[in-house]
Amino acid sequence: MGHVSVAEIASLLAEHDDFVICGHVSPDGDCLGSQLGLARALRSCGKNVTCLLAQADPIDYSYRFLPGIDDMVVAEQFSGKVGMFVTVDVPTADRMGKAAAELHSQAPATLTIDHHIAQGPFSAYEHIEEEASATALIVWDIAKQMGCADDADVALCCYTGIVSDTGRFQYQNTDARSLVAAAEMVQAGADPAYAAREIYQSRSRQSLALEGRMLSRMELLCDGAFAISYLLRSDFVETGAQKSDAEPLIDVLRSVRGIRVACMLREQQGSVRGSLRAKDDTDVAAIAAAIGGGGHRAAAGFTFKGSMDDARALMARTLRDLDA
Ligand code: 5GP
Ligand code: MN
Repeated sequence: MGHVSVAEIASLLAEHDDFVICGHVSPDGDCLGSQLGLARALRSCGKNVTCLLAQADPIDYSYRFLPGIDDMVVAEQFSGKVGMFVTVDVPTADRMGKAAAELHSQAPATLTIDHHIAQGPFSAYEHIEEEASATALIVWDIAKQMGCADDADVALCCYTGIVSDTGRFQYQNTDARSLVAAAEMVQAGADPAYAAREIYQSRSRQSLALEGRMLSRMELLCDGAFAISYLLRSDFVETGAQKSDAEPLIDVLRSVRGIRVACMLREQQGSVRGSLRAKDDTDVAAIAAAIGGGGHRAAAGFTFKGSMDDARALMARTLRDLDA
């Protein structure tokens, strides 16, 4: 019980036959890449594996090229055998949605593999490396331990995780370990140009329409140190966009010269989803945690229970206070 090393994970995995692997709601490239990469490695050892989606939402187009993605099952619809329940890239059970959290609580064996700041005990076995740029880096180490690191699909999945969580090797978490592992993955058959085309050069026109609206509402605070913008539910209806079409927009805000922290707000029914990104050493995970969210020092998120006007006012106040 408790913390397990990568070597111990490999032996734990060998003891079980039926796995489910689940990630967080609104899965990103690291979440999906980690799930599918680990699934592929386990299947190549003869294991029975199902990758779960926390919610029934459509998967972001950017990641539909990932090998195995079409076989993912919505947690609520899963009724198979669970020998071991593995969570990847999930900081707390509630980030997995109700159905998956229930399966997790009933599973005979549970394992958490993650790189988020730990928020209390979660699975019976845990391997958390806060300093890892992506969960996929840890999955890659596990795959190496299992002798599956020569598999091009495992490599492509893990590569996608690293590329997306480091923002194409641009964010502060980009380090030698990430670049060395990426090189190993390319050597094993992951095609970086193919991954980049699928992840970053495949935006929908609806996403561009959202970007126009987002830019027209951009608000700069404290001489351009902070940027806030937002999208309403009506924006999605009127442009025909889906949630994932808004994903690239926080990076547009953060790309502005002089910005220290960018904040993007998206209206939901009865609540507002917030994303925060820091370009300096501001700890946005602490800001998000104060509102019940969390994440990493330079990239965090939260759900605000209330109106968009209140969320905007709160964020403007919070960001202005950073400058005080
Ligand atoms: P994003 O802005 O892309 O939704 O999230 C940025 C980072 O913060 C991701 O690592 C994500 O897992 C984490 N994060 C986002 N929302 C929440 C939340 O509500 N709770 C926690 N604990 N982490 C979050
Ligand atoms: Mn991640």
